[in-house]
Amino acid sequence: MHLDMKLVSANFLFMMRTLTPMLRKFCLAKHPGSRSKAASVLGAALACLAVGLPLGQASAAPQVVTTIAQIGQPLSVIAGDCLQVRSLLGPGSDPHLYRPTRSDMTALLTADILVHNGAHLEAQFAKPLDQFAKRKPVFELALAVPNAGLMRDSEQVTDPHFWMNPALWARLLSRLIEDLVGHEQASAMLDPGCAERLQAGAQDYEARLLALDAWTQALFSNLPRERRVLVSAHDAFGYFGQRYDFQVEGIQGLSTDSQASLKRMNDLAELLVTRQVPVAFVESSIDPKSIETLLTRAAARGGSVALGDALFSDAMGPAGSPAETYIGMFAHNVRAIVRGFGLQENGAPEVGEQKIGEQKIGEQEIGQGSAAQKALYDLDVTAPDFPARLKERLHVDALK
Ligand SMILES: [Zn+2]
Repeated sequence: MHLDMKLVSANFLFMMRTLTPMLRKFCLAKHPGSRSKAASVLGAALACLAVGLPLGQASAAPQVVTTIAQIGQPLSVIAGDCLQVRSLLGPGSDPHLYRPTRSDMTALLTADILVHNGAHLEAQFAKPLDQFAKRKPVFELALAVPNAGLMRDSEQVTDPHFWMNPALWARLLSRLIEDLVGHEQASAMLDPGCAERLQAGAQDYEARLLALDAWTQALFSNLPRERRVLVSAHDAFGYFGQRYDFQVEGIQGLSTDSQASLKRMNDLAELLVTRQVPVAFVESSIDPKSIETLLTRAAARGGSVALGDALFSDAMGPAGSPAETYIGMFAHNVRAIVRGFGLQENGAPEVGEQKIGEQKIGEQEIGQGSAAQKALYDLDVTAPDFPARLKERLHVDALK
């Protein structure tokens, strides 16, 4: 007998879409453990298994799946136990090129709510997200960026790296919460009281990001305008430059999916030398070779440009490092730039107590951490304590 596998798989997907909300409800219902309820408990266990929820610990909080962790991690802080948040892209993942895996597709399918950055950042997710938007709430942060604030390159391609400006990111996250709470289908899934808690959480987080922004402004205040040139591997820092008055130059374009041209490389080497820029940066999620070529060319022109600490551009830091949170990642970048330009570091940003899943990012914590933690924080791959498995994941072997 010949089975049409496409038809079978389409029917299965249709069945899962129809059944998932029902199974979820059944899984989450109260099932007292008495003998007479055994069948019901067994049924619930099967239902929980089908929708990927643990029986007993199941929470009624809606499951939110985000593409990048720059959205998911702050959202988990804002939401507390009002949402179950999971991000698909981990440390070292490049969202421009990342292709959803089979398990990503299952996560998208079974989630209640989906959130993505948009503006073609997660290019390979565009089609599935379009499809899911017909069936469940899908929120795109890019849609809330005011037109006047959008940056575009010479070919009118929108720069999607909004998280590089914490004031803008704060606004987009707050707007996400507003949209979610105001969305009929999404708000119906929330527990009583959660709409207010989400709004309060967003307000609190926004205040912290504004404090982070003020700390950053203060650190750069002693750097003269003409020296504010930030050269990195690809054009991820446009919004950072717009906010803190840096001329930002990436070797690659807005996406990592382009090859640096020879002319571009020579122009940048010339710029570094004439403006006496002391530092250029690699990024954690992309190959550092292009920056090394640039430094060689600058040296050939008589320049003295150092390789700065790796910046986190499109992905956050490894689990367990302070850069695993959005605030920690941003503070890492600011400190790396401050060090690269030989500026004074003035303590830690006043961002208040961190909530669930967030680490304190005060100086003392970094100083008191293990040698491995410090090596991780500095992304110092030459340190003997730098975890070997992370070197691999961060593609930083070439730096040695
Ligand atoms: Zn990027």
